[in-house]
Amino acid sequence: MPQLTPLSRLDGIYPQRQAGFFMQRVKLAAGVISADQARTVAAVAARFGQGAIHLTTRGSMEIHWLHEADLLAVKRELAKVGLTSRGACGGAVRGVTCASQGAAGFPVVEVLAARLQKHFTGNPRFERLPKKFKIGVETDTLGRRHLIQDVGLVYSSHTEGVAYFDLYAAGGLGREPQPGFLFEAGVSENRIIPLIEAIARVYAAHSPAGKRLKHLLRDVGEEQFRRLVAQDPSATEELSAQEGLNSNLIHQPPTQRLVVRIPAGELNSRHLITLADHADSWQLGFLMVTADQDIAFHLHESSDPVEAAAELEAAGIQQATINFRTCPGTATCKAGLSATREVVSQLTALISAQGKLLTWAISGCPNSCTQPQLADVGIVSSALVKGEDGERTPRFDLYRSGDAPFGTLVERALTLDELCSRVAGM
Ligand code: SF4
Repeated sequence: MPQLTPLSRLDGIYPQRQAGFFMQRVKLAAGVISADQARTVAAVAARFGQGAIHLTTRGSMEIHWLHEADLLAVKRELAKVGLTSRGACGGAVRGVTCASQGAAGFPVVEVLAARLQKHFTGNPRFERLPKKFKIGVETDTLGRRHLIQDVGLVYSSHTEGVAYFDLYAAGGLGREPQPGFLFEAGVSENRIIPLIEAIARVYAAHSPAGKRLKHLLRDVGEEQFRRLVAQDPSATEELSAQEGLNSNLIHQPPTQRLVVRIPAGELNSRHLITLADHADSWQLGFLMVTADQDIAFHLHESSDPVEAAAELEAAGIQQATINFRTCPGTATCKAGLSATREVVSQLTALISAQGKLLTWAISGCPNSCTQPQLADVGIVSSALVKGEDGERTPRFDLYRSGDAPFGTLVERALTLDELCSRVAGM
């Protein structure tokens, strides 16, 4: 039986709230997974867990209800189809995300996301960092997700076969949301890996354990941070262009896209197999986990999206009626303060037709895994409060989006009843 150590987090393993059960996170660069790989995730979840798969806002898949004795076998099964969980938790470079999967420029950013993930995954120089280090690659700034990464890259141009990206640094959400700042515009793709290495090295050398890059920036200021990075020999290094064929899955901009809205990002293994089979028969043999915890497909040019969606419905795939990003909360997460899924069911029944057009997000604790500060309406379970009867009940903070990069905190410490009354008016 493997012995779990604190380093197990580097293998993407978290203990669940329920003693004796574990969650295994699987990193997917830009959220892309082949149909064969998805069937393996489904088979592993069914064989070793309870068939439960959670889709995250960072485009990962999480397999829940695993036993410690099976973790090695789980890792082997995933490795057989090229899936990795190394660095999916703990102080490492996490899965490289992308929320622009439907954009024309997605094939370019998927190549970079896959390259970055391959470079940093399992690289001992960039494990055991003070805390997590998140990278995201986007085609544009519309979703504002470039602002919540330790390094956020936004595609800016393409000249003579070389792609250029604007590099934002030191962003993050959690208890102290801070938008990233533009560190350098128009960085050639051949400089991106060494420049991120320089930033990560500065972070590791100057930050205490448990602190993110945003805290270092706050402590030393932008000028000193830039100076420290500039002193690293990699900061100006340029790698030779990568030659040969790209091995990423997506080679063409999407002509047609189908998004299957998965309620609370919760899938069972049977449904994941149905979706994977659908990807083989109607689409191009791959699926994407979106930043809204949904599954998206790029369709064959000849496919009819209405027919494709109807077939999924006939196969028993139920879609959510509202875009409501939801973390597991107290269902499985040790940090959870509220039963997020139950709260969402209650709120969904109260939301008006107009409100259903908005994006919603709820986090079970202030860690903000569902990025509530980027939703039109964001809810953060902020505390547990003991009542006169001795029972501890959750309180909720409410955010609304506006002109600022992140949503504004409009109300604090609402009871569930108060939250329901606010939502009923939306
Ligand atoms: S937001 Fe909190 S409760 Fe929800 S998954 Fe993240 S850590 Fe767990």
